[in-house]
Amino acid sequence: MRDAEFFRSWMTAAAAVVEREADRLTELDSPIGDADHGSNLLRGFTAVRTALKVEPPAAAPGAVLQLAGRTLISTVGGASGPLYGMLLRRTGKELGEAPEVSDAELAAALDKGVGAVAQLGGAAAGDKTMLDALLPGVAALGTSYRAAADAAENGALATVPMQARKGRASYLGERSIGHQDPGATSSALLLGALADVAERETAEREAAERAGDGR
Ligand code: ADP
Ligand code: MG
Repeated sequence: MRDAEFFRSWMTAAAAVVEREADRLTELDSPIGDADHGSNLLRGFTAVRTALKVEPPAAAPGAVLQLAGRTLISTVGGASGPLYGMLLRRTGKELGEAPEVSDAELAAALDKGVGAVAQLGGAAAGDKTMLDALLPGVAALGTSYRAAADAAENGALATVPMQARKGRASYLGERSIGHQDPGATSSALLLGALADVAERETAEREAAERAGDGR
């Protein structure tokens, strides 16, 4: 089971990876966008990190994700702010007020969250957006968090030959072909952060169990 602390760790890890990769995300947003995706997300996830520190700690996973989502909506701007905000808020809403959630419950909630992103943005698989990483990523959650991160990463790479049909990149028509979508790339980073945190927690739990066994 995963508690609120696990979700705070996920958001903190996401903020760290966005900070590390902000320049690359902005570079990807240069040829097919307006060169602000990295700086947009850096502003947003820095605010998320601050919000998680200054607000009284939420007791429920759902509340952590809803706070993060609200914070992204109010700070990121751009197309990706409302979309990532929707992803986290809707996922958080699905998780409700339970103090702990199972991996299966999280997978089901993220599936709803991604569905809400598709509805809000009107995009589908193959449109060269964040959904091209989120959809295969969430579909692989049934296997493992690492499988989800890898599927999202492959999904992001697969946007290179696509022609954008949604968002700013779609204005370029065929000239959007040959470039990796920045939003799909950041989505893969978010699922990568989730896999890192989940693997770390599992390793810690196993170590504690071994210690408890006296071995
Ligand atoms: P903006 O395009 O407003 O500058 P960002 O640069 O922060 O916003 O984010 C761009 C990313 O948002 C794109 O790479 C794409 O993945 C995603 N995106 C844009 N429009 C949509 C949409 N309608 N549905 C899903 N994702 C979208
Ligand atoms: Mg942009």
